[in-house]
Amino acid sequence: MINHDVLIIGAGLAGMRAALAAGDNGADVAVVTKVHPVRSHSNAAQGGINAALTDRGDDWRDHAYDTIKGSDYLGDQDAIEIMCREAGSEVISMEHMGVIFSRDEEGRLGTRAFGGQRQARTFFVADFTGQALLHVLHEQVLKAGVRVYEEWFVLSLIVEEGQCAGAVVMEMRTGGVHVMRAKAVIMASGGLGRVFEPSTNALICTGDGMALSYRAGAPLMDQEMVQYHPTTLKGSGVLITEGARGEGAHLLNSKGERFMERYAPNMMELASRDVVSRSEQTEIDEGRGIDGCVLLDCRHLGEQVIREKLSQIQDIARDFAGVDITREPIPIRPGMHYQMGGIKTDVNGSTAVPGLYAAGECACVSVHGGNRLGANSLLDTLVFGRRSGQHASDLAKSKPHAPITDAAAEDDLERIRALLENDGEYMFGRLRLDLGRAMDRRLSVFRNQQGMEQALTEVRDVRERYRNVRVADKGKTFNTNLMFTLELGFMIDCAETIVLSALERRESRGAHTRTDMPDRDDDNWLKHVLVKSTPDGPRIEHLPVVITEWEPQARVY
Ligand SMILES: Cc1cc2nc3c(=O)[nH]c(=O)nc-3n(C[C@H](O)[C@H](O)[C@H](O)COP(=O)(O)OP(=O)(O)OC[C@H]3O[C@@H](n4cnc5c(N)ncnc54)[C@H](O)[C@@H]3O)c2cc1C
Repeated sequence: MINHDVLIIGAGLAGMRAALAAGDNGADVAVVTKVHPVRSHSNAAQGGINAALTDRGDDWRDHAYDTIKGSDYLGDQDAIEIMCREAGSEVISMEHMGVIFSRDEEGRLGTRAFGGQRQARTFFVADFTGQALLHVLHEQVLKAGVRVYEEWFVLSLIVEEGQCAGAVVMEMRTGGVHVMRAKAVIMASGGLGRVFEPSTNALICTGDGMALSYRAGAPLMDQEMVQYHPTTLKGSGVLITEGARGEGAHLLNSKGERFMERYAPNMMELASRDVVSRSEQTEIDEGRGIDGCVLLDCRHLGEQVIREKLSQIQDIARDFAGVDITREPIPIRPGMHYQMGGIKTDVNGSTAVPGLYAAGECACVSVHGGNRLGANSLLDTLVFGRRSGQHASDLAKSKPHAPITDAAAEDDLERIRALLENDGEYMFGRLRLDLGRAMDRRLSVFRNQQGMEQALTEVRDVRERYRNVRVADKGKTFNTNLMFTLELGFMIDCAETIVLSALERRESRGAHTRTDMPDRDDDNWLKHVLVKSTPDGPRIEHLPVVITEWEPQARVY
């Protein structure tokens, strides 16, 4: 058995920021991650991170208001206030740790405009901000002597007498299964993008931590709120950063019109993501698209801006679509990008299961509500990663380890044995694709009752077939076939909670747009939808939204 005070699951920005904070607070900290830390999806973040700095004439209250309006009034305002107030010091402390942010002509930290915000407050490192932040945090974690278990895969959480007491983890290199005992566990396992196909997310974003926590008794909140990003590349679905529009790129339809004039005359291409994605989909559905896409035009930005600020986009468009963005517009469409919902936490990361914390994309604090503003997620990972690290390590100081033994791994060992012995007719790949396509077809930009009911049938059909899944590789060394099959189990749980929550919300709000119920209904639905796992199956609950000073208004851009 392996013992640590605080066990952090995930080595993306949330996990590593939590590890530093818990270590600073004197705890013995360990991080487990199924991939090398800098291969976490945070590495792919392109556009930037928001903060309202007073010396720029900006105010955290304006950032909070933009975030609340962006969330379609579903975000909890106490949490949003904390995030926006702490943003400046968090970004500056990353700069002090060594992140080389892009600068303006006067040599100050540069900002770019991002969607749904009245002020340019997005700090960035060209178009690879996540990579810059992640590498610096990784260096800091190594410097702090945090133990990192790389390529270790978490199979389940251990709950002893109602408290989270650690996790059962498989070492990928050997196939060995270990009990890791901890006084506090922080889930920082990232998003579930791949529950949809295609997605901008890395293949590893399979919602493991949401499903693990759900199975352990922690409710998931706002799961119906799935963000479709307005600019994903035709075919592959690779992300083209909002930073391109922030630098001034235009959206065009087949007639060459800047169609956003019709939908968001003030903010145009920089309206909130849900608004832009709906506008694009409407253009496409009404026959003004080109081959299922609209166009993102960067040509007028000039070669220098493109080379200095959008070089990765230039490479992606060339390598994946054969487009030279200095000469041609890029074919793009709305694509699955981000999960606003997740494990319900308070502002210190605590979940409903004592001893279990969550931070980052897997958590729902909730600061994003019905629609996340671009560049608020990196901020969320750092602010709430740090706060969870501090609070989890405080808790760890106050209690002994739970009296568990290696027997805690028995259920997982049995499950793996059964999977390896199952001679069923399906391989994980087919099922994963069926699941992802069903979700993308029925729960994308526009939804309706019939489609969502169909999705529920399809998800449950995949769950049935999963009982008959065969793992061809029976070996112990790097059995990725086994790992992908286990991930599919997590994905099915996540998909079911998304569909059930979406069916529950009988209105349109943020990313959840129903063609059969097109209006926002504050009288009945200004509340969160939660799903809890019970022995009788998933149970739906509601929670009020926390409003501090911003009353809901009509949302126009
Ligand atoms: C292409 C792209 C671009 C983006 N650009 C931006 C941007 O510009 N600005 C912004 O604010 N947001 C952006 N986002 C969103 C943002 O990057 C993510 O929400 C955020 O980085 C998530 O960080 P995280 O720490 O929560 O999780 P991740 O970085 O995804 O890390 C998850 C960690 O959990 C580990 N893990 C998962 N399951 C297991 C398991 N079973 N066992 C062990 N370990 C496990 C993984 O190994 C990994 O280390 C972007 C997202 C994408 C996909």
